[in-house]
Order: sequence, then C-alpha cells, then structure tokens
Amino acid sequence: MRRRRNAKIIGTLGPSSNSHDTILKLFDAGIDVFRLNFSHGSHEDHAKTHAIIRSIETERQRPIGILADLQGPKLRVGTFKNSKEMLKAGDHFTLDQDPTPGDASRAPLLHPEIFAALTVGAQLLVNDGKIRLKVIEFTDTSALTEIIVGGEISSNKGVNVPDLYLPISPLTDKDRADLSYALSLGVDWVAMSFVQRPEDMTELRELVGNQAAIMAKLEKPSAIEHLTAIVQLSDGVMVARGDLGVEMPQEKVPVVQKKILRNARQEGKPVVVATQMLESMIQAPIPTRAESSDVATAIYDGADAVMLSAETAAGNYPVEAATAMNRIIIEVEKDPYYRKSVDAAIPTPGDTVADAISSGLRHMATIMPLAATFTYTESGFSSFRAARERPEAPVIGCTPNRETARRLALVWGVHAVIHEVMNSIDEMVSTAIRITLAEGFGEMGEIIAITAGMPFGRTGTTNLLRMTRLKELPDQST
Ligand code: PEP
Repeated sequence: MRRRRNAKIIGTLGPSSNSHDTILKLFDAGIDVFRLNFSHGSHEDHAKTHAIIRSIETERQRPIGILADLQGPKLRVGTFKNSKEMLKAGDHFTLDQDPTPGDASRAPLLHPEIFAALTVGAQLLVNDGKIRLKVIEFTDTSALTEIIVGGEISSNKGVNVPDLYLPISPLTDKDRADLSYALSLGVDWVAMSFVQRPEDMTELRELVGNQAAIMAKLEKPSAIEHLTAIVQLSDGVMVARGDLGVEMPQEKVPVVQKKILRNARQEGKPVVVATQMLESMIQAPIPTRAESSDVATAIYDGADAVMLSAETAAGNYPVEAATAMNRIIIEVEKDPYYRKSVDAAIPTPGDTVADAISSGLRHMATIMPLAATFTYTESGFSSFRAARERPEAPVIGCTPNRETARRLALVWGVHAVIHEVMNSIDEMVSTAIRITLAEGFGEMGEIIAITAGMPFGRTGTTNLLRMTRLKELPDQST
C-alpha cells in the first residue's frame, strides 16, 4: 500500500478518535503519523492509543510514526472567587503571588520566574492573547498592569509573555515524567513545546539519546531569534502557529512560517506546519476555502507535513478532515506549478558525498523519467538527504531498522520499507527491483536509481549510486 502524494499528514488523537475503528479509518484516509498530545489524557489513555496504532501497523503492514508532544511550561493565572470576571480596557489590574482566589482588581499568578524577568512596558497576554495587559510597575511578588484589551478572564487561563525571556527549562516535572513514559512505550518522535534557546534542544537530546527523533515546536519569538541553531540541533521542527500567533502579532505568522520552512529545508530537517489548518471541520464536514488554501500554501512551500489538531482529536468529523487534507495535497502536487515552486527553493548541497549523490538523484530525475529513487539507509540519514532535494521520483527508504522506518513516516516523499541488511551489490539491486515492483512504484522496463553505503549495515556511509531497469528476476533467492 502506497500513498499517492509526497507531503505527509499528522493527525492528533483524542476523545473523537482514539478507538481502533477510527484510527484505522484515519490511517486509511491518509494519516501517516499519529500525535499523542501529553497536554491531555492520562498515561493509561496514551498507552491504549499507542497499542492500537501498533496493532494497525501490523494489520496494514506499513510503518506508522508516533509523535509524543510534551506540554511544556504552560503558564496560567490562578483561580477566581466567582470563577470569572470582566476586565475593562483602561482600568488597572494586579497580578501577584498571593494564592487567594482573584476578583475584579487582582488575580494570582503563581510563577515567580515571570516576576523575576518582568520589565516596565512588558505585555502579559491572557486566554490565547484575547486579554492584553501592560506592566506599569512591579515588585518581586506583584505587578500593576494597565488593561490594554479587556474581556472575560477566568480561572486557570493560559498566560503568554512574548517580550520576556524566562530562565526556565522547557521541561517541567510533568514533561520529564511524560517523556520517560512515552519513551518506555516506544514513540518515534518527541516534540518539545515553548523552546526558547538552542540549549533547550541539547537538554532534550541528552534525555532522549537515540531512542526517538526530536522536534522543536517553534512558538516563541526567542526561538525565532535563534532559528538556525535550533533547527541544526533538532531532527525536525514544527511551526506551532497556535501559540506563535499569541506570542507575536498575527500578521507576522505567515512570514515567520515561510522563514522557518526555508530554514528547515536548507538544513534538511523535516518541517511540520500545524494548528487551525482545517479548524472549521471541528464542526463541519467540509473545510472553508481559506483553510484549503492555507493547507495548499504550506504544500507549495515544500512542507514535509501538515498537522491536524482538534480537527481529529476533538472534532465531529475526524475522518472527513483527514480525507480533505489528503485531497488538497494530491491536487496541489498535480499542479505543474507545484514542481516549479518546490524547485525554486532547492537548498544548496553540502560539501559531502551523501549530498553530491542526493543532488545527482534530483538531476537524474529531470533528465530521464525515474520510477523511484531507492535509498538504502540504516539511520534514515540518506533518505532525509534525498528528500531534502525534493526529487521528482518518489523516494523509497529501505532500512533494516523498524524505528528508522517509523521516523521516516514524517519525511516528505519517503515511502519506508523494512528489509534486512544486504550482503552484496547484486542482492541490493535485485531487492530494490523487487520492492519497487511489489510496492507499486514502477512497471517492468522503467528505471530506478539506487543509493547505498558500503560496507553495508554501517551508518553514514552513503557512497554508491547505481541505475537499473525494472525487470523479471530469475527467482526470489537471487
Ligand atoms: C501550537 O501552539 O500551535 C501547538 C501545536 O501546540 P499545542 O497544540 O500544544 O498548543
């Protein structure tokens, strides 16, 4: 079974979708990677969902990626005596470290790190940025603010502080417990929320080792300031537009999205565009025109994957949302302008044998039609580099490692296949021919390009490029 598109789809699971029946339908509709959102649900819930995904992987005989998304240090106001209050623009409002429930004049904000970092004029945004407060004066435990944009404030609403750098680890105690649980289940990608500095990714890498690939969620202005270093230290990145659109003016989000896409493509790191992509499908069976256009833009810009959040986790039409996204991607990728648009942003190859070969693959696919580019890969690196070139022919990523195959589920254009390590070049060629034909990527007589590293079975050795015609092979053992 193969997808008829290059860009991948991530679907978040939740109460609307975590049954076996719905996850199977979501996979068949086009979800390549399932996201377990650790901001919601218990460990037992995630374990059940994880087991269902793995059983579907066995049923469908296809590697499926699982992404564990850690909540991160989400800041929140405390509670209110009357559970909510109305704040009026122009009035004053105090936030302090007194846990007594709040009223119309003050509320608890039990995050000492915010008070330690405050500056006069800094903005405090409450409830997804709907309420805007500006700091007039502050002490170590309290801040007097002017209400710039008022509205309803209620218990435990989220707080964003876009102007401040908080000297905190992006991993809370809950994140550390969730991470070790997710790794014990066996997930393929781990995403870290509210990354601020390159060191945050180093900290995550130390904890994860090579048990999973790591992804930086880019949602803080400080992360955008250190974009290249963060991308280089991550295996992939996510344009987390929900919090990004609160932390910076909405009109900057599309510009930053394109900047992240360019940067990640240059570095050859998979990039995911996330949040509100088909938001109206939480309630409706079809998307708005603007939403279809938003998904299409991410695809034209060369995103590796687009993500569904509440649409699949908590919406009324999870399968319809996956189907709609699948259709939009297929339609865009049929457009001849799509190829031009993807080619216009081809990154400069690095000065390495692997990149010379990957770049060669793309050129070859423009000179003669190739049925597939077949990459033998241990760690996935060769397939990542081939995908970075966005070749016209599909990339088959053949690996002996199940974990590598699952990670590749997120990468543009890569169809991962698990096969034991090769022993000779002849075996490599005949296996590539058999797999290409069996997986439906080519017809007899068509040509494929094969890349591999010799000696076989060692990582980081891509040094071989071979062309072959798809042909009848004498028997299965040769
Ligand atoms: C986002 O903010 O866009 C995002 C993907 O993160 P979360 O869903 O955890 O808010």
